[in-house]
Amino acid sequence: MLPHKSKFLLLLCCILSLGFIATNLVGYFVARDSLSKQITTDTLPLIGDNIYSEIQRDLLKPIVISSVMANDTFLRDWIVAGEKNPDTIRRYLQKIQQSYQTVTSFFISDATLTYYHSSGILKTISPHNELDKWYFRAASMADSHEINIDFDPSNPSQLTVFINYKVLDAKGDLLGITGVGLALSAVQQLIEDYQYKYHREVFFIDKKAALTLHSSEFGKDAVFGNGIIDPAIKGKIINTDSTSFSYQQDSNEIFIDSRYIEEFDWYLIVRQTDEYLQGSIFNSLLINLLISMVITAAVLTFSWRTLSGYQQQLEKMAVTDKLTGLNNRQMLEPVLEQLFKLSSRHNYQLCVAVLDIDNFKAINDQYGHPFGDKVLVAVAQLIRGLTRESDVLCRWGGEEFLILMPNCCSLDAKSFGRKVQQQLATTSFNIEQRQINIELSIGISQKNTEDKPESLIFRADQALLSAKRAGRNTIVVS
Ligand code: GH3
Ligand code: MG
Ligand code: MG
Repeated sequence: MLPHKSKFLLLLCCILSLGFIATNLVGYFVARDSLSKQITTDTLPLIGDNIYSEIQRDLLKPIVISSVMANDTFLRDWIVAGEKNPDTIRRYLQKIQQSYQTVTSFFISDATLTYYHSSGILKTISPHNELDKWYFRAASMADSHEINIDFDPSNPSQLTVFINYKVLDAKGDLLGITGVGLALSAVQQLIEDYQYKYHREVFFIDKKAALTLHSSEFGKDAVFGNGIIDPAIKGKIINTDSTSFSYQQDSNEIFIDSRYIEEFDWYLIVRQTDEYLQGSIFNSLLINLLISMVITAAVLTFSWRTLSGYQQQLEKMAVTDKLTGLNNRQMLEPVLEQLFKLSSRHNYQLCVAVLDIDNFKAINDQYGHPFGDKVLVAVAQLIRGLTRESDVLCRWGGEEFLILMPNCCSLDAKSFGRKVQQQLATTSFNIEQRQINIELSIGISQKNTEDKPESLIFRADQALLSAKRAGRNTIVVS
């Protein structure tokens, strides 16, 4: 069985620990939940907005340039006039390319299938050439323009983002396709810049949920098997102008913000996982738990010290006489038994002396009880001053003191008694401006082979009675 103090501290430790763990865990889950809500409702849509405006600035410009080219009356008139003097169009395209710093600018005539480029005529395209198939697809598209990623015929090693814009005559018949191109690597760099700036993954998917544009370091994880977005979340993105949601993938929560960009006919996706979040919230949980542990330890240490202090005080009070500060009767019994056993075992003498103040009642009667108390304290101090370190002195009763004297024979005990009496005889106590002289009678017993602890004390008591009968202020040895 644990002692009461340990039980109390264990209980306190359990209550504090459970309390702290519960509040910290509740805080952790609430923080996670509200942060995750905040990401889907505020943070990610806001980042999506920012990226969208940057895209408008960076990527919509070439679309606008291509649109201006397609609607340029100079270009249309030149085509309708029979594409005379190709150098005119070369300079036109060159100027566009230089002014807007695109990697290419082109016009393909539907009538002659000539590929005009800023550097001159590149070639005549053919429906049988695999590399030229894009033109015939774009020529028959319903939309006014498309974005196509392909190799640039003027620089075949370079993947280029082409904006293909239809040039129509006044009746709406196709005259050809014009536009500009941007280096794919530059566009990828733009996306990487967004990713770096906003610490989120940024990419585009088309209406079939196929990946179109992404950074070069894009990690195609499980969600994008073969570059296609997971069908489970595909439904939430496609055909929705803008949406923001999260879903569970393995042990991670994935946050998605998507918006349809009409000019591209693509969806801009901003994606983030909760790894970073979980890490920071989990770290703060650990810090909180650590602080809680420190507080628990501090409370336990403080409680332990306070309880130990009170316990010591109580233990001391239990064996101390309040008035004189000497040991009390309760303390004496176990000590006597112990000394009794030791004296039998090691064969040393043991004496008991009982000292009783003579005619103490008269002092009380004459000067009052509080005065008598002060006399008791003074006599106790005097006796204590004369006892040996090894002696055990206690207040035995009202005005009686008992001394256990190990390793002491009755002769020595008697001479000690005399010393006390002589000291009292020469001492005049000055209490409340009164001079008081005290005498006392002493009964002594020395342990013999038949003695038990009680009989040893009984014989000392009997000897004290004899001393009283003999006229007081005397010593009788049993
Ligand atoms: P004797 O010489 O025979 O011992 O006479 P006595 O008067 O000393 O003895 P008695 O037993 O008649 O009286 C003891 C007195 O001690 C009675 C009691 O009121 C007083 N006494 C006991 N305890 C205390 C105490 O704590 N304080 C005071 N002031 N007096 C006490
Ligand atoms: Mg008495
Ligand atoms: Mg007395």
